[in-house]
Amino acid sequence: MKNYHTHTRRCQHAIDSEEDYILSAIQSGYTELGFSDHTPWLYDSSFHPTMRMEAYEIDDYVSTLLKLKEKYKNQISIKIGLECEYFEKYMDGLRNMLKQYPIDYIILGHHYDGSDETGIYFGHPLTKSQLSQYVDSCIKAMETGLYSYVAHPDLARYDTSDPFYKQEMLRLCIKAKEMNLPLEFNLLGYKTHRHYPNDSFFKIAREVGNRIIIGTDAHESQSLLDMKTYHQARQHLENLGLSITEDITFLR
Ligand SMILES: [Zn+2]
Ligand SMILES: [Zn+2]
Repeated sequence: MKNYHTHTRRCQHAIDSEEDYILSAIQSGYTELGFSDHTPWLYDSSFHPTMRMEAYEIDDYVSTLLKLKEKYKNQISIKIGLECEYFEKYMDGLRNMLKQYPIDYIILGHHYDGSDETGIYFGHPLTKSQLSQYVDSCIKAMETGLYSYVAHPDLARYDTSDPFYKQEMLRLCIKAKEMNLPLEFNLLGYKTHRHYPNDSFFKIAREVGNRIIIGTDAHESQSLLDMKTYHQARQHLENLGLSITEDITFLR
C-alpha cells in the first residue's frame, strides 16, 4: 500500500509531526509514504499565504524528511514531494526549487486561479468560464510533464448534472489519459463529505479509461490509521468499475 498525499504542520492547517505520520503508515502496513505539503511560491508581492509553508521553510521540510527517510529506511520507503498549483507566472521559480532540492515528485492540487494572491478559489461555486479556466490550467500543468498525478481533480465546484460540466471535465480526463497521469480519489473529501470526490466526475473518468489513485490527503497522522475509510473508498471505486493504481512516475 502506498500514499503520496501527506501534509505537515508547515501548511498551518495540519497537525502532528512527520515522524507521527511515518509511524502510523508503518503500523497500517504502508510500504511507501510520500509527503506532499503545500508548496511555497516565490511571490513578486509581499503576500503571505495562510495555507502553505513560507519559502524559507522548504530547507527544513526537506532536511527533516531526509533524516527520517534514513532513520526508517528498513521499515518504509519515504518520498519527498509537494502539492503544487499551476501558477503560470511563478513556474520558473518552482522549476528552480525542484532543481535545488531533492524533491522526488509533485502532485497538481490546483486550488487557485493564477495565484492565491488575488485568484479565486476553485472550490467555491464557479461560473462557466471559471470552470473552463480550471480545466485549461490543469491541462497546461499536465503538459509541463512535471506533475505525477492530479489531486482532487473534481475540486472545481459546478453543477455536476449540467452537460457543460461533463464537456469540460472530459477535456481534463482525456489529457490525463494521454499523459498517462492518474487522477486522485481524495480520501479527506470522501471522509468529510465535501463536494469532491463526486461520482459524476468518476463516471466520466471511467468512460475515458483513466487510472485512479487513492490519496489520503492526510492533515493528521490518524488519517493513515483509518483503514476503514480506505477500504470503503476502494470498494466504492470498484463498484463504479474504475481501475485503481498506486504507481506514479518520479522526477528523479
Ligand atoms: Zn491542505
Ligand atoms: Zn489540495
